[in-house]
Amino acid sequence: MVRGHAKQQAQEAAKKKADAAKGGKSQLGEARTKGLKFTCPVCKGQNPNYKVLKEHFENKHPKDTCPPESSFTA
Ligand SMILES: [Zn+2]
Repeated sequence: MVRGHAKQQAQEAAKKKADAAKGGKSQLGEARTKGLKFTCPVCKGQNPNYKVLKEHFENKHPKDTCPPESSFTA
């Protein structure tokens, strides 16, 4: 049992190493190029797109004005 567990750990470690070699920061870069996060300036909640952000504002912050889309995509 111990041997099998150690093997699994080794595999996971190797996978992590391989992922790191591919570029550990790629995930962050990908998120930036794929689509900017529409972060709510009020609660810092992240929304996948402007439409969701606008709905979020209407639901969560009806007293606040949703910033224009251009302020996120610029
Ligand atoms: Zn919010």
